[in-house]
Amino acid sequence: MKYTSTRGNATPLPFCEILLEGLAPDGGLYLPESYPRVDSSILANWRQLSYAELATKILLIYIDDIPRGDIKSICEHVYTAEKFGSSEVTPVTQLGETKVYLQHLSEGPTLAFKDVALQLLGALFEYELGCRGETLNILGATSGDTGSAAEYAMLGRQGIKVFMLSPQGRMSQFQQAQMFSLDDPNIYNLCIDGTFDDCQDIVKAVSNDSVFKEQYKIGSVNSINWARILAQVVYYFYGYFRTTTNDSQIVDFAVPTGNFGNIFAGHVARMMGLPIGRLILATNENNVLDEFFQTGVYRVRSGSAVTSSPSMDISKASNFERFVFDLVQRNFGEIRAMFGTSLRERGQFALDPETLERAHGQFGFTSSTSTHEDRLRMIHGTYQKYGVVIDTHTADALGVGLRLRGEKTTRPLVVLETAKALKFMETIHEALGAETPKLTLPPSLVGIEERPRHYHNMSPDTEMVKEFIRSRV
Ligand SMILES: *Cc1c(COP(=O)(O)O)cnc(C)c1O
Repeated sequence: MKYTSTRGNATPLPFCEILLEGLAPDGGLYLPESYPRVDSSILANWRQLSYAELATKILLIYIDDIPRGDIKSICEHVYTAEKFGSSEVTPVTQLGETKVYLQHLSEGPTLAFKDVALQLLGALFEYELGCRGETLNILGATSGDTGSAAEYAMLGRQGIKVFMLSPQGRMSQFQQAQMFSLDDPNIYNLCIDGTFDDCQDIVKAVSNDSVFKEQYKIGSVNSINWARILAQVVYYFYGYFRTTTNDSQIVDFAVPTGNFGNIFAGHVARMMGLPIGRLILATNENNVLDEFFQTGVYRVRSGSAVTSSPSMDISKASNFERFVFDLVQRNFGEIRAMFGTSLRERGQFALDPETLERAHGQFGFTSSTSTHEDRLRMIHGTYQKYGVVIDTHTADALGVGLRLRGEKTTRPLVVLETAKALKFMETIHEALGAETPKLTLPPSLVGIEERPRHYHNMSPDTEMVKEFIRSRV
């Protein structure tokens, strides 16, 4: 399997050659040359598999430059009960007697949905660097869960250091504690006296210094990495198998969406022949993607509003180009005109009605926006009816999923749960008031806020960050 850039001006490369890269050299995103179809006999066979076995099978389709046995061993070490609470990794539960299911994607080491992909990415990075005899210094910026998920994914991995910038005092106490309690010689938390944008600007400035980047082997774990998408394809198959008995059945998925990585993995699974009916996209008030699926106009915003489902607060969706590439039937020229020219010059582009219709008809996408009021209502309703407390992101997906699937359907609806409610207690209290139950932390995280913290304070100064990296590498 080779990977091509959505902009069409980069040499097609095998998996290991794109694994450690970000954007393709022509500014596009890498995608496999095709999505191999899986037939009924394969689906029947996969239905029996454990999560780690299923991950192995799916990775093998897209990776042909790592020996089979090594992929198997990587998946067996990553998708364990020790790391994800059970060997199910992404267990599925039913809401009462309904056909509505929650698939729990936030059971990993940092209780973040990002763990599912980043844990695999860490293992793949370590493997590939080992083969090459190289090292990598990962530089990132975080204002929430991504930082700790990345640090836990790279923790103890041979040849990898992490330098993670975060805005001083802007993360929740719990999120800070998760990152700063790590005591490891290869993990550095740089606490920047500034905003998240300052942190991101520094990461960009360092990465744009190609001499420094080369000399100090600077890399990233950003959301456009294909291996992260690939890891996420697995749980769509797993969720489908847990909610059906044979592959004549169709399942809808509702996905709380930000950068379009999660739902794009669903699109890949569907293109491979998994019987997914609708891919239901939920946005919060930052609804640039809902606007696109309603009107065909993709209009990047100048900033994002702060909402109670903060991991979906985006002004543009970094993975979206991949989907539009399939939508325009992989026409490189059109992608260059839309993402290379139109978006850069006018901040928007528009699709013709016929192309937009393909998104709904052929690709099964449908979308809607969820507001703070909707979240409160869903959290309250779900607790009242089923005794289950859902988080704010999952509430967005559940609300939109129920709204769009229609009353009469008997089709299973799988709602992807991307965070744990206990991280968003302020909104949970607002929704449940005096009824709010006590939610308990898993044992590994009890008392985390009292543990010693390891971090370095720093001004928002690119040179200081570079100097810090120089002195530690
Ligand atoms: C990252 C994240 C999302 C959005 O996922 P995308 O792949 O960016 O669309 C939704 N919910 C939570 C809790 C997240 O952390």
